[in-house]
Amino acid sequence: MKNPDNTPFTDANGSNNNNPQGAADANATHTTDTTIVAAPMESSAQAEADDPASAETSAPTSAGASATAPTATAPRRRWTKTLIAVPILVVLLVACGCAWAWQTRWRSIAVTVNGQRLEISAGMTVQQLMSANGDFNARPGRLLALDGTVLNDNGGDPASFTIDNRQVSPADWNSTRLPGDATVAVASGADVTEGHSTEYETVPRGVSVNVTGGVVQMVQSRGKDGKREVWVGDVSGQRVEKDVVEQPEDAQVVGVSPHPEGRNVIALTFDDGPSQQYTGPILDILKDKGVKATFFDVGTYSLAYPDEEKRMMAEGHEVASHSNTHAYLPGLSRDELRSELSAGLQNMQQASGVNTRMIRAPYGAFTADQWKDAYDLIDYNVIWSVDTKDWELPGAQAIRSAAVSGAYNGAVILMHDGGGNRDQDVAALPGIIDDLKGQGYEFVTISELLQMVGASAAPAEGDGAASDSGASASDGAGDGASGDGSASSSAASDSATMAAAASAASARQS
Ligand SMILES: [Zn+2]
Repeated sequence: MKNPDNTPFTDANGSNNNNPQGAADANATHTTDTTIVAAPMESSAQAEADDPASAETSAPTSAGASATAPTATAPRRRWTKTLIAVPILVVLLVACGCAWAWQTRWRSIAVTVNGQRLEISAGMTVQQLMSANGDFNARPGRLLALDGTVLNDNGGDPASFTIDNRQVSPADWNSTRLPGDATVAVASGADVTEGHSTEYETVPRGVSVNVTGGVVQMVQSRGKDGKREVWVGDVSGQRVEKDVVEQPEDAQVVGVSPHPEGRNVIALTFDDGPSQQYTGPILDILKDKGVKATFFDVGTYSLAYPDEEKRMMAEGHEVASHSNTHAYLPGLSRDELRSELSAGLQNMQQASGVNTRMIRAPYGAFTADQWKDAYDLIDYNVIWSVDTKDWELPGAQAIRSAAVSGAYNGAVILMHDGGGNRDQDVAALPGIIDDLKGQGYEFVTISELLQMVGASAAPAEGDGAASDSGASASDGAGDGASGDGSASSSAASDSATMAAAASAASARQS
């Protein structure tokens, strides 16, 4: 509220000091002079009327409107400045943003990709560049199996991307932006072959057989199996043979023709027994003459006539194997061969406790193939050097002449105590022994003969014979009865087959 008129106050102030209002007027006049835009309020005016002195003090403590009144112009200026500054700042920011965006995004830059110059937006990522250009025909490598077949068309190394010769991992393609003037190389990924584990498989040893002229064939060394590396594919499971890391060593089978130096020894041998009819009489003669011989027994006959075989053992003769059923061994498969040999050995052991790894193959038929299939089952295959041809039933005198005329130091004489009519063997034997004794011969078993020349087979590995045994053990006795007939004809062939070899051996010895 403004004072309506300054004049009356001035007049009153000067003319009438008694007027209580005068003091107020005078005071009012004073304030009027110094306050131009003040808007006295009722409370202030009342205070002036009551106490002039309070006017100055009351004003600052009065209600807000009158207190702020003196400084109200400053905020308005700041607001004005703000209203001007904010748009400027915004404009500046937008300008800066645009400049930044221009620099980093909107403008075009040039890059050279695989020798080709391309204009691209600044800020383009590797991934965007690749996607926009069909990956520049770069493909991931393939995942290959061990044998080279494709397991996965995209399973190999990823395509490679280099910026100025610096490789950018595919994981960084989305976050890596291309700089201007970059030289980029994009290439397909390499094929990758699957991982593998390594195993080893056995490379079976061979058997080297060199028995030419040997009366006794013997495993001189066992050799050893080799070892081959095999890769097994982690994904495909393929097994691929790699290098042989341990070469196998062949077993060695050699022929031995013993001629004990300074001795005059001879070995009598009897095949195809034991028999109930002839083994006993022959053992009687040997016992009477004090002579040791070697018997090659058929396994089935051992079971059939165990007492005869036990007597051979008890009287100091050597007992070895003549197979289980007198089979023609080269006619058998590997498994059949091993079964035939093992069963023969086992049946003898069962019948009389014979424990041997010495055989005489029926008909002397035992080639390098049989040795390869069974070198681990036996130590010796004993042939002969003097064939009495008793199987031809030439008469006792002829048998006696053949034995004596063919004799030499270390000779092995073939006769029979089973498998047919052996009457002539029984009849001839005493004269043979007498004649040979007369020539100064000493009778030895095969093992004794071999010992005299220091020939012994390499130690067996493990228990090979036992592992194959048992296959034919139960049928041994059953075959015994019918076996006689076949053994008889076998005995004939036995000698016939080996006649050439035997005579060759004899001739060489003579
Ligand atoms: Zn025979």
